[in-house]
Order: sequence, then structure tokens, then C-alpha cells
Amino acid sequence: MGDKAIFLKEELKEKTVDIGADLFGIADLTRAEAYMKKNYAEPYSNFPRAVSIGIFLPTKIIELLEQGPQQIYSHYYSVVNSKLDELGLLTCNFLYKAGYDAIPIPASQQFLNDPCKSAFSHRLAASLAGLGWIGKSCCLINEKVGPRLRLVTVLTNAPLECDAPVNNRCGSCTACQDACPPKAIKGEKFHHENPLSTMLEPEVCNDYFKKVKAQHGIGNCGKCLAACPWGKVTVSK
Ligand code: SF4
Ligand code: SF4
Repeated sequence: MGDKAIFLKEELKEKTVDIGADLFGIADLTRAEAYMKKNYAEPYSNFPRAVSIGIFLPTKIIELLEQGPQQIYSHYYSVVNSKLDELGLLTCNFLYKAGYDAIPIPASQQFLNDPCKSAFSHRLAASLAGLGWIGKSCCLINEKVGPRLRLVTVLTNAPLECDAPVNNRCGSCTACQDACPPKAIKGEKFHHENPLSTMLEPEVCNDYFKKVKAQHGIGNCGKCLAACPWGKVTVSK
């Protein structure tokens, strides 16, 4: 990588951090080429790099999820997704103006007909960009905040300097699996060649959201986020 690649990356990082990004990294997608070709359609499967950006969710709000679904969590989930989409668009247009192809992946992938499928996995890009590892809950686990974050991805052919992935640090922990009410989490470690269904049953999780919505009028859960010991805080009484 030359000076131009380093300069471009630093300029982009500064711009995104200035308007609210908490995490920023560049993924070398060639490390997961076979997985991408198998699981994603064109053009999403064709890019060699990705910009991965994260915003932290308020940790004290996540802690409240231990008590049940929370309207305040739904509110900030939407607020953070909107901010991430803004960051994705800014990144895409910055790269386009610099002469490269780029495509942003929406922070929430509810734009697809099947809520269990994604155009591209934000957590895969973030893990390859060194923002954290994919935990047994299938969430991206960051050393500082655990899974209390949301992500956006911009796929690109810009020759940006890539970051190195970090090691998986779930170890023998089973906190997310133990906390999951419908037992959707299977407790398996992530391996990039295995489908996510070997770790999590998304339909079971979705069905639980529907059940909770019918009971409480709020369709969220997040007990796996609240339980993760990485980044855990205690709500003061
Ligand atoms: S959100 Fe709730 S139901 Fe879904 S995996 Fe996490 S703990 Fe289980
Ligand atoms: S709760 Fe434990 S097993 Fe689950 S993602 Fe966090 S560290 Fe990994």
C-alpha cells in the first residue's frame, strides 16, 4: 500500500469520526472470498475491501433489557441506524469522488423480503476489519463495549490500507446462550466456513420477538446483548 492509500484512509476516518463514528476499520474481504461467493449475490460478493463503521449503543439502556423489552431501546436502535446510514452514504460518496466504486449496505437490512437473510454481513466485515470478533451470540463483540453497538458497511474497490482481525475471546463463556429465553443460541464458536445457522436459529429469535410484541406491545429482546461480560456495566439504582 502506498502513501495515497494511507492518506485516503486517514482522511475518511477523520471525516466519519467527526460526525459520530465510534469505531472505524478496513476489512480485507479477500480473506472470505469463497464464503462471499457462496452466500451473497452480485454485486455484493465482488468487492475486495470494506469500510466498517460502528456506533456504540448506550450501555445503560442495554442493561435495562435484562428486565424485558424496552421502548427506549427501540427508539435508540432506530436513531443509531439512521446515523449509520448517513455515515455509509458519506463514505460511499467520498470514495466515489476519489475515483472508486463503492456501495453502502443499509444498517438495518429489513429492506430485504426475508428478515433472516442479509445482502452482506456487517459483522463479517467488522470482524475482518479488526473491530472485534463474532461471538457465540453471532454479534460482533468489541473489547470495549462487547455487543453494545451497531454497524454499517461500505463495500469498495478503493486501495485502502486493511486492518488486522482480532482473536475470538469468548472462551468457555456461555452467558448469551444461558440468557436467551427461547434458546435460539446454540453455543457454538464462529467459523467463517460454517453458516450462521450452526450458531443461531434466527427464526426462533424472530418468533420470540413476535411473542414479546403480542404480550408487551414492544417487539425487542436483546438479553444476549445485556448478558455479555465484555463491556458490561451495572445500572445504578
Ligand atoms: S435477541 Fe433474545 S431471543 Fe434473540 S438471540 Fe438474543 S436473547 Fe435470544
Ligand atoms: S456472552 Fe460470552 S459467549 Fe456470548 S458473545 Fe459474549 S463473551 Fe461470547
